[in-house]
Amino acid sequence: VWKNCLAFIKDNIQPQAFKTWFEPIKPIKLSENALSIQVPSKFFYEWLEEHYVKLLKVALTKELGESAKLVYIIRMENTYGNKEPFTEKIPSSNRGAMAAQEMDVPIKSKNPELRNPFVIPGIRNIKIESQLNPNYNFDNFLEGDSNRLARSAGMAVANKPGGTSFNPLLVFGGVGLGKTHLAHAIGVEIKDKYPERTVLYISAEKFTQQYIESVKKNTRNDFIHFYQLIDVLIIDDVQFLSGKSGTQDVFFHIFNHLHQNGKQVILTSDKAPVDMQDIEQRLLSRFKWGLSAELQSPDYETRISILKNKLYRDGVEIPEDIIEYVAKHIKTNIRELEGAIISLIAQSTLNKREVTIELAQQVVEKFVKNTKREVSIDYIQKVVSDYFEMDVATLQSKTRKRHIVQARQLAMFFAKKFTKASLASIGSQIGKRDHATVLHACKTVDNLAETDKQFRKYIDDLTKKFS
Ligand code: ADP
Ligand code: MG
Repeated sequence: VWKNCLAFIKDNIQPQAFKTWFEPIKPIKLSENALSIQVPSKFFYEWLEEHYVKLLKVALTKELGESAKLVYIIRMENTYGNKEPFTEKIPSSNRGAMAAQEMDVPIKSKNPELRNPFVIPGIRNIKIESQLNPNYNFDNFLEGDSNRLARSAGMAVANKPGGTSFNPLLVFGGVGLGKTHLAHAIGVEIKDKYPERTVLYISAEKFTQQYIESVKKNTRNDFIHFYQLIDVLIIDDVQFLSGKSGTQDVFFHIFNHLHQNGKQVILTSDKAPVDMQDIEQRLLSRFKWGLSAELQSPDYETRISILKNKLYRDGVEIPEDIIEYVAKHIKTNIRELEGAIISLIAQSTLNKREVTIELAQQVVEKFVKNTKREVSIDYIQKVVSDYFEMDVATLQSKTRKRHIVQARQLAMFFAKKFTKASLASIGSQIGKRDHATVLHACKTVDNLAETDKQFRKYIDDLTKKFS
């Protein structure tokens, strides 16, 4: 049927237009008198509707009679709702649970032709995979003082997506404290309560990649349209957008559109909005419209219950004192906490050893050691210059510009603090200075730390990056 339609259409339009607008269409199925065709994008669909609806109608009526109907299927998962595996690990058996979603969107168009019964209004099947990880849910996101606010805000949002004042909901906190887990949990819960809503989880990094790709391929509009179709948009690690003004700009437009239409936006970040750097003011102010909720380091009780829950779920038993030992020694990162217990279980099963406190000590020690990054002077210079948005050469240069001098002195200060290198060796590595210069730098930093609040913040921010 479609072949005949095409032949007819081809005879009636310019070859170039035919090539552009009809060759990419794939016929999908014919049931009774409705033909489903797949088009590559929403924009494509709109263009067809706007320019070729009459022609399509005539062609189809010739084939199927007066009651002919046309169903569009807009395909874009290859471009945007990608099917790549998550960044988070998920057993492959769970992949199937991430069912594709379909949605029906009413057509709002100025084109009166769209009201023609020939085109079934509102039947645009758009499949978007939510990319949610079902293993990250509220059931296994244990509550504690450290996460109570964020968790309950997340629940509130999941109960009424777009219908609370928590829009956007921004969850922030350090590494391994559960941002990604909570973000998925909210999405999973919404899919459960409102299966018809389109939920999309995406990392800010992936979002950026998609955006860059769309600019390269000249499909920026499709990119924007795609995101505007979503009911619940979850973007993880928005700090990744810092300094990326093109992506911020496009996100700003998408955000406004979604927000105005009562759609829910959920964001995570490693910092509170006030501390975010290189994010446009207008975006930051949007972030503050809703609620920012912090995930803090879990207290001892919470650490214990997280460990116990993990063991319970894995069906493993470990003596109480060992659980306590691990909880006592790994404090600031739930991912590390889990990592240690997993490796403890693995060690004991592989070596067929009882889990003793000695084994726990070894594992914890190794674990804590392994996760400590080696800090080198090169690394320090890189981190400090990144922080101040300059390159390492600038940091090392002879200039006396105040902010560069400060950056250089901070690099020296941290090199003294975090490496075993001598003053002379630090000096020679940071722009060929002598040991007196380094000594002077360390003293200056110490003084400024006490007198200058802004400077204190530099030190705190940077210290976090090294420890
Ligand atoms: P982040 O995204 O903040 O770096 P994740 O969400 O990846 O942290 O969490 C790290 C690990 O800790 C994950 O395996 C997650 O399941 C676990 N986790 C975090 N918070 C909790 C919690 N409240 N209860 C149970 N597990 C948690
Ligand atoms: Mg994360």
